[in-house]
Amino acid sequence: MTKINWHYEQMTSGVHIALRSEKELVNVETEFQDVSIFETRHLGKVMRIDDGIQVTTKGEHIYHEMMAHVPILFHGNIKNVLIVGGGDGGSAREVLKHKSVENVVMVDIDEQIIQLSREFLPEINNGAFDDPRFVLRIGDGAEIISQYSDCFDLIILDAADPDGGASETLFTQSFFGNCLTALKKNGILVAQGGTPYFEPYMMQSMVSRLTQAFNNPAGIYMGGCYDYFGGSHAFIWATRSGTIDTLSLEELGSRFTQADIHTKYYSPEAHFGAFFLSKDMRDYVNQAVKCENVDELSMPEAGDWDDYTPATSNQSDDDE
Ligand code: SAM
Repeated sequence: MTKINWHYEQMTSGVHIALRSEKELVNVETEFQDVSIFETRHLGKVMRIDDGIQVTTKGEHIYHEMMAHVPILFHGNIKNVLIVGGGDGGSAREVLKHKSVENVVMVDIDEQIIQLSREFLPEINNGAFDDPRFVLRIGDGAEIISQYSDCFDLIILDAADPDGGASETLFTQSFFGNCLTALKKNGILVAQGGTPYFEPYMMQSMVSRLTQAFNNPAGIYMGGCYDYFGGSHAFIWATRSGTIDTLSLEELGSRFTQADIHTKYYSPEAHFGAFFLSKDMRDYVNQAVKCENVDELSMPEAGDWDDYTPATSNQSDDDE
């Protein structure tokens, strides 16, 4: 009888997802977070932080390609990039594919995440951490951001969801205001906005706060990140003026060809199509842009979740 290890993520009081682990690679409590990395049958290697899926080697390229190439190919001349979070190195890897990029500063609160990513998930950073254009700063992004003014053409917020962990400080109005200060005049901010079909509050509250901080309606584009439970993933963008969905498919095609980069998911068509939102998503965004008090948005259920975790790891199941 083999012991089968299951990792559970509680999405709501009534929805748990479970990943069967084929091999535990590491389980460690760092100074800031609980981290586990394990091998699975169908998602490759998985990193979880505080019981939340962060990245899988099977599906991470979708998230990281859409996070990086949409703003970079729209802007057309991104040189200086700030990544807040991103400790697995996937966002840095994709950004550094662009020859126009001269400097990438990555601020992560937890140095151990970078060490663990180097050791157990080298295929994700794929050498990005050793690129001469890459600079790693260890610290709370919410503190370090205030050291920058008029510096970056692109800021990528690639932190975990704001569910009580170290990322909480990266979803506040004041942090977004400091991001605006750190951005150059035509700079773009993009941030992971969760899976709004399943739970829209996180995306809506960020769109509302960014709209207020940037004094310009923020927006979203979508990507099919199947390794985040709950449907298509929202990428939130914010700029001082205008929008980032104005390029034609032909222009995107020309810029992609000129960039001469290899991708697995990103294409000019995927980029162009990502901004055509379903009616419910469009309504969510319009509601958030007009909302000045996020408490008016429909909040996820409060913390009356069961502390019940389904029968876990050491239940001995017959190996299928
Ligand atoms: N793609 C994932 C997602 O969408 O949830 C994010 C993955 S990445 C591993 C999340 C990173 O955010 C971690 O490396 C973590 O250490 C970092 N992080 C969390 N809170 C932070 C903070 N306040 N400042 C800087 N980095 C932070």
